[in-house]
Amino acid sequence: MDRTEKLVQALREAGLRLTPQRLAIVRLLATTDQHPTAQMIYEQLRPDYPSLSLATVYNTLETLVDLGVVNVLGSAGDDAVHYDADTDPHVNLACISCHRVIDLPSQYVHALEQEVATTSGYRLLGARVVYYGLCPDCQREAARQPAGGRRHRRRRRRRGEHHQTQSGSEE
Ligand SMILES: [Zn+2]
Repeated sequence: MDRTEKLVQALREAGLRLTPQRLAIVRLLATTDQHPTAQMIYEQLRPDYPSLSLATVYNTLETLVDLGVVNVLGSAGDDAVHYDADTDPHVNLACISCHRVIDLPSQYVHALEQEVATTSGYRLLGARVVYYGLCPDCQREAARQPAGGRRHRRRRRRRGEHHQTQSGSEE
């Protein structure tokens, strides 16, 4: 069963009517690796489904999360909840600058999930393993920015001068 079918079946089991709008939401979730927010899903589908409402996106997502077929990732520094239909244990990496979220496969997360399930006795529905930081692109962007770079250099120079005076050098 592919991911789309899995989500469709979950909606069917939850007793939700499989409207074209809900199917579109499910198809988008199942095929994207963008970890979209409800707003992103809404904006992406709106041109093709003018009758789609943000409320439908939210309640469809909520149902899928309750059924454990979609994970809630929380914010990526943008105060918006991101969703992930990949429920296999993996690490999510969120960039707090461009708010992109990427997947990182990890054998440790898999082992961790087994450990948690075994020691807690829980029937686990999902996991939220999110690391925050600056992605390589945003790090390069920050390094290129002249304002920040200049400020940094000036501060360093001043500290250097102070040090020289203190040590009584030939100034
Ligand atoms: Zn970034």
